[in-house]
Amino acid sequence: MILALGQALAGVVVTVDGVGGPVTQSQRLMLQSTLDRVGVFYTSALGVRLPDPLPMHVVVYLDREAFEGHRSRAGAPGWSEGWFRTTAAGPEAVLWGGDGMRAIFLHEASHHLLAHAGRSPRWLNEGLAQVMETARVSGNALTVTTPPRYGQILAQVGRPTVDAILTNPSTWTDLPADQAGPLYVQGWALTALLLGSAEGQATVRAVLAGDGSPASTRAAIESTYPGGMTALETRYARWRPDASFVLPTPIQAKPAANDALWIRCADGRLVARSVGCR
Ligand SMILES: [Zn+2]
Repeated sequence: MILALGQALAGVVVTVDGVGGPVTQSQRLMLQSTLDRVGVFYTSALGVRLPDPLPMHVVVYLDREAFEGHRSRAGAPGWSEGWFRTTAAGPEAVLWGGDGMRAIFLHEASHHLLAHAGRSPRWLNEGLAQVMETARVSGNALTVTTPPRYGQILAQVGRPTVDAILTNPSTWTDLPADQAGPLYVQGWALTALLLGSAEGQATVRAVLAGDGSPASTRAAIESTYPGGMTALETRYARWRPDASFVLPTPIQAKPAANDALWIRCADGRLVARSVGCR
């Protein structure tokens, strides 16, 4: 059942298994809190309607050989350090537990959460994932920053008009983070510009309420962004890629569910501990 949520998401429920070694408590808390905070932002600021509770299972590989074996069996690209899939038991992330784990998790989790918004434009879907990659959780907010190399890439590849970004039919393909292509950085820049202001966030919300087509996106910008496409074109052309801003993630009245309250049964079901696996 999909519930319409108000100011807060009641429960992103993350369960974690380690393969080839133990997952530390701080890693568990990091996965739980980052997904929860991004979910709350998407719900409260961007109007994404998420299932409640939203269970997510994470398998963290600590053994490189075992991870690579799983990756090739899963058919994931050889550079991929993590991915999401939907199993019979629900959504599952498979991650290499190395240095880049948090960024990979945030990028893929963003796609996963946004899928609940229906069809969204590709530039915005990838742009949000790129922005969220940099997020740091701090209490009731996400702080996002601009990776210096994004500024450098944008300076090299230039920026098309907003109109060209909306209508670009190019194929988007996920690439290793250090090879992020021009499209990703241009989409990231437009997304970061929008997320950095209340009226821009309202515009993203209006775009996500549409059908993802260029016409629907253009109509959402015209009706929601002050000054419409003309003003956004001007601001995007002048925007300096040095965004650092704080996105509010209201603390919910209900305590967040956590893996102390939920258990995964041997048959893969996720159930409340009080109910048990019987
Ligand atoms: Zn992506």
